[in-house]
Amino acid sequence: MNNFYHVIIVGGGGAGLRTAIEVARDEKLKVAVVSKVYPTRSHTGAAQGGMNAALGHVAEEDSPEKHAFDTIKGSDFLADQDAVEFMCQNAPEIIYELDRWGVPFSRLPDGRIAQRPFGGASFPRTVFSADRTGHVLLHTLFEQALARENIDFYNEFFLLDLLHDGQRVYGVSLYDIRNGEVVNLWAQAVVLATGGFARVYWQRSTNAVGNTGDGVAVALRNGIPLKDMEFIQFHPTGLAKTGILLSEACRGEGGYLLNALGERFMQRYAPEKMELAPRDLVSRAIEMEIKEGRGVGEGTYAYVYLDLRHLGEEKIKQRLPQVRQLAIDFEGVDPVYDLVPIRPTAHYCMGGIHIENYMTSSTPMEGLYAVGECACVSVHGANRLGGNSLTELMVFGKYCGIAVREYAKYAPMPKVIPSEEKKGQAYVEELLKREGKAKLSEVRRKMGEIMWEKVGIFRDERSLKEAYEELSDLLEQWKSIPVVDKSKVFNTNLLEVMELRNMLELARVVAFCALHRRESRGGHSREDYPYRDDENFLKHTLVRFDGEKLELSYIPVRILKYQPAERKY
Ligand SMILES: Cc1cc2nc3c(=O)[nH]c(=O)nc-3n(C[C@H](O)[C@H](O)[C@H](O)COP(=O)(O)OP(=O)(O)OC[C@H]3O[C@@H](n4cnc5c(N)ncnc54)[C@H](O)[C@@H]3O)c2cc1C
Repeated sequence: MNNFYHVIIVGGGGAGLRTAIEVARDEKLKVAVVSKVYPTRSHTGAAQGGMNAALGHVAEEDSPEKHAFDTIKGSDFLADQDAVEFMCQNAPEIIYELDRWGVPFSRLPDGRIAQRPFGGASFPRTVFSADRTGHVLLHTLFEQALARENIDFYNEFFLLDLLHDGQRVYGVSLYDIRNGEVVNLWAQAVVLATGGFARVYWQRSTNAVGNTGDGVAVALRNGIPLKDMEFIQFHPTGLAKTGILLSEACRGEGGYLLNALGERFMQRYAPEKMELAPRDLVSRAIEMEIKEGRGVGEGTYAYVYLDLRHLGEEKIKQRLPQVRQLAIDFEGVDPVYDLVPIRPTAHYCMGGIHIENYMTSSTPMEGLYAVGECACVSVHGANRLGGNSLTELMVFGKYCGIAVREYAKYAPMPKVIPSEEKKGQAYVEELLKREGKAKLSEVRRKMGEIMWEKVGIFRDERSLKEAYEELSDLLEQWKSIPVVDKSKVFNTNLLEVMELRNMLELARVVAFCALHRRESRGGHSREDYPYRDDENFLKHTLVRFDGEKLELSYIPVRILKYQPAERKY
């Protein structure tokens, strides 16, 4: 095994693979792609509804400018407008490229790529492949990456730490899940593409169980600032019992939301856009209906209904086959004939590793880059529009790849840093030796409960303070969770202990940043500060960990054409 690379990419999801393909265009560069799961099992494969690009195939009047405006308005004016314009301008070209690579997009009768309406968008702009868009995208990207001989895959290797000298990154320390060995890889540049962390809401999340924010937590522990961590997206239509996602495509294709009285209640909250208002607004509307007694049942298991019946069997089978199957398998109802019980569920992290330059996706640490859901560019601001994440992965993955390819031409060659060599090994040994009585499953369950109840859709000072204290306490308890399984082969017990630490550290950061943002904006809704406060809070939150405590600072939002205005839908 060669431990020296030009570029290491940690993450084999959409963002990591798109970046890898771009870097590997220079055949002289040796690229490593590291993934804790086999790449095609990354969460990108679970994306259902589609990706946004103003192709104008269904509505000729659409344009990248309109896409940018919708995105900025959807973000509650917290997105950086130059970055949003860059993404929207580049989106159409990215779609045609994927089309040429073989992504089987759904088509219009005349053969052009079809587009469907999505929340917060002024035109049908979302390109899709039935309701399995992420699946076909991920497989096509993997195929393209496999075709390049200068990419080595490290499948089922777990990122333990970054190797650096405080100024520049030199490599990564990995745990080989198959045999329990620790391996250090050294490189000129490292790209983190490790995805989101919405699993911090353990019991109610649409995310894969592996979405534990490992890369984001590793960045935090190594002094790299995170941005806008208080902004979590709750998706309106999670299955009531499990929180499993039913795509926004359900409403895009014409589905309704009904309360227990059979009313299309969105009329009260977004009379114009109705069910296709942005996610933050629809999620709050559902929770208000439940709070005011118009939901079905009470407490944790209350819900409202998604009604797809009027779409008819043929359309449901053709456009929403996976949604139908999920409803049958996990809720025991068939959307062709039945109402589907739904309730909001944690879905996406707008915040992440602070990106300084959106053109390159570079972080404040020399040689370190971040792309995809683990990064905060920021194009989603306080609320992401559905379909904009896949677009983000592809656009910024490509341009990060171009930047890293250039960087590798003049950056110093990789070398071993002796002082960093033992870091990963020491961490694993310490965990395996550890004794204590705390229980992994219990601490994890408590974390999920605290996040849902106190850092959920509605928040206030008291609950956030409590959450911060309780999560700090859980982090202490984590130190006495023993790794019971001492074996070297597929030690999932050890992995889960490491993942739980990452989640706890990030959960606490979310509560901390939410506590200090005393306003309501996008996905962050404070009952004690119900209005957006542009005078004091039109700014990005940066949070750093100095080894002992969390430190906050703020940076301005880059506003170009569009001045903040009240959001009406
Ligand atoms: C159910 C669902 C449906 C969605 N639908 C849509 C949609 O229709 N449209 C849209 O735009 N967005 C959608 N999203 C959001 C979008 O899919 C994600 O934001 C996006 O796919 C994230 O891609 P990524 O490449 O950043 O991360 P991921 O695809 O999550 O990949 C992360 C990678 O990092 C690796 N990794 C993580 N930790 C480690 C570690 N410690 N060591 C080694 N490797 C590690 C993983 O193995 C994986 O390969 C959806 C999300 C969900 C959950």
